Amino acid sequence: MPKPSSLTRQWPLIALLLVLLGCGFLATSLASYYAALDSIREGIINTELPLTSDNVYSEIQKDLVRPILISSMMSRDTYVRDWVIAGEQDAEQITRYLREVQEHYATVTSFFVSEKTHTYYQAKGVLKQVKEAEPRDAWYFRVRDMQAPYEINVDVDLANNDRMTVFINYKVFDFQHRFIGATGVGLTVDAVVKLIDTYQQRYNRSVFFVDTEGRLVLTGASGGPMGAHIGQSLSDIPGLEALMAKLPKPQSGDYEYQEQGRDHFLNVRFIPELNWYLFVDKLEDGAVAGIRKSLYLNLLICLVVTSLIIGIVSLALRRYQRRISALATTDSLTALPNRRGFDLLASQAVQEAWRNSSALCALILDLDNFKQLNDSHGHMAGDEVLRSFAHHLRNTVRQSDIICRWGGEEFILLLKDTTPEQARELGEKIRLQTEQTLIRFNTVDLQITTSIGLAQLQADESLEQLITRADRALYRAKQSGRNRLCEEVT
Ligand code: GH3
Ligand code: MG
Ligand code: MG
Repeated sequence: MPKPSSLTRQWPLIALLLVLLGCGFLATSLASYYAALDSIREGIINTELPLTSDNVYSEIQKDLVRPILISSMMSRDTYVRDWVIAGEQDAEQITRYLREVQEHYATVTSFFVSEKTHTYYQAKGVLKQVKEAEPRDAWYFRVRDMQAPYEINVDVDLANNDRMTVFINYKVFDFQHRFIGATGVGLTVDAVVKLIDTYQQRYNRSVFFVDTEGRLVLTGASGGPMGAHIGQSLSDIPGLEALMAKLPKPQSGDYEYQEQGRDHFLNVRFIPELNWYLFVDKLEDGAVAGIRKSLYLNLLICLVVTSLIIGIVSLALRRYQRRISALATTDSLTALPNRRGFDLLASQAVQEAWRNSSALCALILDLDNFKQLNDSHGHMAGDEVLRSFAHHLRNTVRQSDIICRWGGEEFILLLKDTTPEQARELGEKIRLQTEQTLIRFNTVDLQITTSIGLAQLQADESLEQLITRADRALYRAKQSGRNRLCEEVT
């Protein structure tokens, strides 16, 4: 049966390490990524966008709320109402009144349109007669028919070189609450538009106003989201489908949506004075992209570190495994292979001999009267003799021969491609050498002899059977007086 390679044995441990390290690194990287993402989101939603909204709102209040109050005051002014009820006698009187308002409050225009005569009065005099058929005058008839006391209308001003102007159109009633005309002031939205432009350019956010029906009413100079223009409904702007799914009608709050794969953060705020919604929309690409990049970098570092750790651990494991298996197959006293080491090599050699029909011989060597040597010179002397004998044995045999300390003072040699004659020759050489070699221990020269049993591998014979026969030959060598080689014949 093939032995499992060290890599296969390591695999469960390496896999476990990989899973643990991978999960650990992944969890910490993702946790820090989402924490950073959350703090950026929170910063944008809770601080950046509301701050823009506050600033724009306060600017709007300055620019729009004050004119609403002025227009309201004009619509309630008894002087105006009396003058109309009295039959609009002197146009100069109302013109002066309107001039006073315009100059005092620094508005761009001020006006009164009479329901009875359809005359459009403004600060410079009578401008024209409003006609129902004229599209530019449609506003007046709309105001006349509306329920609310006033409206805010962004339009071009005929009396002022067609500049984009916000008109506050207030209904005027007589003292019996009958509609007698419309009055109010107009102002350019340049300051607000400029502010919107600043925010849009500097902070990469889009600022615009939407009415209660979801139509754009005021944007920066370059238009609304995706370049949309005033009057367009949000639902007609391509790319805002996701937003419209959340906000079919404007509603105050914080939102997130995606447009063509890009993240948007949105703050919507109702401005009751205008009956409009202020939208501050931030396209998120910079900060989140940066964090995403650092996540990828983190993951890459984790991958490299994990691979390094796995590589180092696997290398160390393999080295220890090699050392442990060497220790397990080597005899510590003589440094020769022990029985386990021998089994691994010998069974392979036997199979080879079978396959190739080559000669294979086994020699079993047992030191003579070793117990006696131990008894008279001590165990340490015995050890030294074993070490020295093993050393000589190793130097005498070929590299291809298999050598083993079988146990105690017994050794086995398995000689590949060796005939019994050659094996006997080698055995005799070893026996003679052993007999003639003096082993020095401390101050004493020790002398030993060895008995040897020889057997040749027979066809279809197992390793065990071969060794048993060699052992039998060894027994005979012992029996017949020791220090000799006996051969087992089949
Ligand atoms: P024989 O000639 O019949 O082989 O006699 P022997 O004394 O060599 O045989 P026996 O089996 O009676 O004794 C073997 C001795 O070898 C006994 C044991 O204490 C000793 N021995 C076995 N292993 C070691 C060892 O590692 N070191 C030492 N010093 N002695 C050992
Ligand atoms: Mg013995
Ligand atoms: Mg012995």
